Amino acid sequence: MKKITIAIDGFSSTGKSTLAKQLAQHLGYVYVDTGAMYRAVTLFAMQNGYISADYFDKETLINGLPFIKLHFEFNSDLGFAEVFLNDVNVEKEIRTIEVSNFVSKIAEVSEVRSKLVEQQQAMGEGKGIVMDGRDIGTVVFPQAELKIFMTASPETRARRRYDELQGKGENVSYEAVLKNVEERDYIDTHRDDSPLRKADDAIEIDNSNLSRDEQFEQVLALVNRVTKSM
Ligand code: C5P
Repeated sequence: MKKITIAIDGFSSTGKSTLAKQLAQHLGYVYVDTGAMYRAVTLFAMQNGYISADYFDKETLINGLPFIKLHFEFNSDLGFAEVFLNDVNVEKEIRTIEVSNFVSKIAEVSEVRSKLVEQQQAMGEGKGIVMDGRDIGTVVFPQAELKIFMTASPETRARRRYDELQGKGENVSYEAVLKNVEERDYIDTHRDDSPLRKADDAIEIDNSNLSRDEQFEQVLALVNRVTKSM
């Protein structure tokens, strides 16, 4: 069967990565979590003191970009690829609420975006890829054969993220998670460079009332339809 490029975009905590992982595993495709790349750059900025609650030294971060090396390594126990920042596995550190609170500010910086988009496009050259993020169908792979745009209410998404963080033992309130989800939605949809928006040819899926399996079956049917028509 011919391999295609699957672009999955949408708001925070809409379950993009869950769907993308399921698809990649089922189809034997590579899964790339582009949010992890923006999060890793954010961690770099935090570790070097370039960003904090009331401070962001954008210029120094931009000058430091050549010193940021990102790569993914597949972890067969987890069933997905973990992200490495300068050869250190940072998969766990990038999922904290602190990183979530700064990441959208970092993702507004055009120099950061062009560096990461270039790397993402190189990873997708051979097709057979499922990539999730905010600008995959609009900027990274505007020619993707299948584009999905995922939505769900902010409360549903905050509840999911809250449960996930609790499960990892993070001490955070539901209100703080909801605030973070709403703030990121705002910044992601209003930034000048590559704002989050549904590509004209993307198929929108609101999964507020869909189970994980129902959603997977729906999208798999779309994949089959596209690959058969090629
Ligand atoms: O997907 P995730 O929630 O981990 O993404 C974290 C943040 O990274 C998003 O809120 C957004 O600001 C940024 N991002 C982006 N473009 C992407 C992926 C993520 O701007 N392709």
